[in-house]
Amino acid sequence: ALVLAAAAGGARGGVMAAHGAMLADPTLSEAAMAGVGRGLSAGVAWQEAIAEQVAVLLSSGDRRIAERADDLRDLERHVLAALAGLPIEGPSVPVGAILVAEDLLPSQVAALDAGVVAGIALVKGGPTSHAAILAAGMGLPMAVAFGDPLAALEDGRIIILDADRGLIDPEPDADAQVQARETIARRKAEMEAARAAQGPCRMADGTRIEMFANLGSVADAEAAVAEGAEGCGLLRTEFLFLERATAPTRDEQARDYQAIADALGDRPMIVRLLDVGGDKPAPYMDLPVEENPALGLRGIRVSLADPQLLEDQIGAILAVRQPCRIMAPMVASLSELEAVRAVVERQGGHLGHRAEVGVMIETPAAAISADILARKADFFSIGTNDLTQYTLAMDRGNAAVAAGVDGLHPAVLRLIGTTCDGAAKHDTPVGVCGSLAADRLAVPILLGLGVTELSVPPARVAAIKALVGKLDLARCRTVAGEAMELPSAAAVRAHITQMLQEIGA
Ligand code: PEP
Ligand code: MG
Repeated sequence: ALVLAAAAGGARGGVMAAHGAMLADPTLSEAAMAGVGRGLSAGVAWQEAIAEQVAVLLSSGDRRIAERADDLRDLERHVLAALAGLPIEGPSVPVGAILVAEDLLPSQVAALDAGVVAGIALVKGGPTSHAAILAAGMGLPMAVAFGDPLAALEDGRIIILDADRGLIDPEPDADAQVQARETIARRKAEMEAARAAQGPCRMADGTRIEMFANLGSVADAEAAVAEGAEGCGLLRTEFLFLERATAPTRDEQARDYQAIADALGDRPMIVRLLDVGGDKPAPYMDLPVEENPALGLRGIRVSLADPQLLEDQIGAILAVRQPCRIMAPMVASLSELEAVRAVVERQGGHLGHRAEVGVMIETPAAAISADILARKADFFSIGTNDLTQYTLAMDRGNAAVAAGVDGLHPAVLRLIGTTCDGAAKHDTPVGVCGSLAADRLAVPILLGLGVTELSVPPARVAAIKALVGKLDLARCRTVAGEAMELPSAAAVRAHITQMLQEIGA
């Protein structure tokens, strides 16, 4: 698995590396060896060891942790194949096909060639599963949770998958097919033009929009630069902290941040402080088991509860030669920003420089009090994934409510609008780094509400840059106002679909 990780890089490499770390976990190997000691065959002992760990994950009561059981099942399959001397086969898919499946394991998605598969539609699946995050990172259109009607489709049938709207047309007529093919060809050409274009991202009327990328590794940073990203709007530092037995030291962190900054050249980099807890457990941190993890010790609350952790991470970020911006996740109150700023100033004082400190707007509290936070924040970045789950009171990892978790719900849009209005009072710039930034139907609204920076997975940079180039700010303001008056996310999606059709985007 580790060899695969090195070859894959980026999000794919991340999954492989996670599998490698699971494989290295002595709990698994010791259980398997004990089984062999009891006279079981290696394969059966391995299956039993995996089953035990899957049971532990499923009993956590948190669906996002439970989804990680998929990774273990995946690992089970790989090791069994290796024991039997069989090759590990991904699904074989004809060029340009839409892959329809009950569900997909992360390594099955990682094994797909984004140049071959046109898209993925799943009968089951969750929007935040590892497989979905991987597909997004690879730029593969994917929609989930279609249920039985999808399962009933026979192989080889021509269907249209509209991942923007989460729709499938199972029987498109000739006109619909021609139109879909034209749209695909046009978007591909626009993406290629955006990739080739020099110069900063601008709207059709000349308004400057910063086009940043979300990163988790050096490979991501290299991919983002190749795609034309102008900087990093979200460095997810969790990758350094998860899947290991002890916390990374300050020096280790500094080396990793420096390597990513070097891959970005002199482009700006926003580093997010550690966002663990709840759905992202780090075993050595000894975080409590909570009844409501999403409402518990997570994000900046973890760092504030462990001052040494915060000091080390901020010290490591400030040690990077290029100046980084520092961003706090899951902020609900001004005091949290002030506490982070105090550490930055103290550590920065030693090093002789001042770093910008910003806030992620992920809680309704932060959005509603954006004008208060803006007095002290250098920038905002809206985490629409969490803002959506907390606004709608729908767990982003719960498949039972997955269909309702849509950031284009008018309530979420209104909070984004409130955030931008509050920020404007103090000239605080607002970006979006949650998945709405990479959603074609959300972009006109976000820009219309006053967002000036979008941070998306590297594979989406060119497509979103091309889209921004077709939009006019005045028109975006009008549709944003209209969208906030609509009754549902579905109505908003239909409205923006029509607007984009009218402008030929
Ligand atoms: C978000 O919540 O939108 C976000 C960008 O953070 P994460 O998805 O890492 O929680
Ligand atoms: Mg978040």
